[in-house]
Amino acid sequence: MTSRTAACACGALTAACEGEPEVISLCSCRNCQRRTGSAFGLVAIFPGEAVAVSGAGAIFAREADSGSTTTFSFCPSCGSTVFWSRSARPDVVCVAVGAFADPTFPMPVRTVYDEHRHPWIGFEAASRL
Ligand SMILES: [Zn+2]
Ligand SMILES: [Zn+2]
Repeated sequence: MTSRTAACACGALTAACEGEPEVISLCSCRNCQRRTGSAFGLVAIFPGEAVAVSGAGAIFAREADSGSTTTFSFCPSCGSTVFWSRSARPDVVCVAVGAFADPTFPMPVRTVYDEHRHPWIGFEAASRL
């Protein structure tokens, strides 16, 4: 089975992920832009039992538009967000695709918050929600 490990920039906080993600999504919401410092966020959603976390993350929680709470785990030393959970889906773990630093990671299958996407980004997903 495929095994991949997401890590923060300094390597202290990791999330080892077994198997393929259920969904890979590109999010252009403004919160993802601020969280990543980039134009969009990329997330791979794994079943909770497929993810093994190592290291002590710091927590940042915020309320989503839907009213659910998203709780981000980031490295207190280097600041990278590695994974997060959502109160609406306690059975899954969301992992930052960039934290895998793996150009062969599968591409996103959906995009969300397209209305906030930077117009120069030409990505077209297989489906949209
Ligand atoms: Zn770190
Ligand atoms: Zn977002």
